[in-house]
Amino acid sequence: MNNSIKPSDSLSKVWSRLNHHPIVRGEGSYVFDVYGKRYIDFTCGIGVTSTGHCHPEVVAAVQQQAEHLLFGQINCMLPQVTSQYCDKLVEVTPDSIDTFFFSNSGAEAVEGAIKLAKVATGRTNVIAFEGGFHGRTAMTMALTSSKSVYREGYQPLPAGVVIAPFPNTYRYRWNDQTGIVDFCLSQLDQILNSQSTPAETAAIIVEPVLGEGGFIPAPTSFLQGLRKTCDATGILLIVDEVQTGLGRTGDMWGHSSSNIIPDIMTMAKGIASGLPLSVVGASRDLMEKWTPGAHGGTYGGGSALAMAAAIATLNIIQEENLIENVLAMGNHLRQRLQLVIANAGLPAEIRGPGLMIGLELGTLEEPKSELAARIQTECLEQGLMLLTCGPNGNVIRWVPPLNVTKAEIDSAVDIFSSCF
Ligand code: PLP
Repeated sequence: MNNSIKPSDSLSKVWSRLNHHPIVRGEGSYVFDVYGKRYIDFTCGIGVTSTGHCHPEVVAAVQQQAEHLLFGQINCMLPQVTSQYCDKLVEVTPDSIDTFFFSNSGAEAVEGAIKLAKVATGRTNVIAFEGGFHGRTAMTMALTSSKSVYREGYQPLPAGVVIAPFPNTYRYRWNDQTGIVDFCLSQLDQILNSQSTPAETAAIIVEPVLGEGGFIPAPTSFLQGLRKTCDATGILLIVDEVQTGLGRTGDMWGHSSSNIIPDIMTMAKGIASGLPLSVVGASRDLMEKWTPGAHGGTYGGGSALAMAAAIATLNIIQEENLIENVLAMGNHLRQRLQLVIANAGLPAEIRGPGLMIGLELGTLEEPKSELAARIQTECLEQGLMLLTCGPNGNVIRWVPPLNVTKAEIDSAVDIFSSCF
């Protein structure tokens, strides 16, 4: 065993890394490295540590559970805590999403959702959207078009996937939202006429806010248009809530304010405050199309620790009114970022709901990718961890924990603004 504080040479180089110092402790919005340096962590582990690092209630729930049962393989037994989480989760999902399948990662949940849609409809194809990100497995790579690095070197990917245009006003330089939504919905119709007929199309999958694609919210009218198309054709609507779910957008779900009901929902990341857990949610009728053995996995549903953490996470979100906090802190953060940008005299766009805020530096013609990278590095030196996203890497993403305080946001923005 290597007891030195140097990162191990035995770690795969496939992971790029923002902070190279080994981290030994996390508390709320902060992490501490092996040298004792403190960082404000506004990456949240890409939206995972939603209640902050090591929330005492999550830690206590995991510790208590660990004394009783770590794991109960779900084909062999039903951990009581898994059943308890189902009863808790169903209280916050849309009424018709009342039955759940569990796995470990977001990609696994998306894979599961696509398999369910194919089996339930007897159809083969899936439509996804330009700029979308759904994971790194073969099928989810085929659904992903947010950046070439996610696909390059792995093609050909599974067939039967069509990528349709997403109403991205920024990228299409098209500010008229009604116009761009109409265009994208008519292109979707065209795809259904020319590339994948409704009789062949099992599902349409959409993120309520493109995450990796640059924090681009889907307009309500677009989501409603997709619902209409699905209702008219029997295609199932999968809403991928892996990044937007459970309070991140200032609502329970990223799609909540659009008044649509998905046929299938995928959830992961923040739902268990850092323990690996993902969910496919659907109606009982739909879930029953999955006959025993048609899907599964060793770990899914069996990790009692993840279930205990997920119950605690939901309790914290409700008891600490975190959705209200997300709205208030999101507004505060947006206002402060607007001022920073105005003072810097730099073209930039700030967008995204709740505490899912993207700051795109530069313009479409001149994306300020190097500036974004430089600011990211300087922020890190000054003790602030921020990630970037978007196809050019020039979108700085702000994903603090849902229980972040105003003082923490102010400290972070002070560091950020000093880097311009
Ligand atoms: N779907 C969305 C919307 C995501 O943002 C992600 C990850 O960023 C995934 C799926 C894949 O999740 P995971 O990395 O846990 O496999």
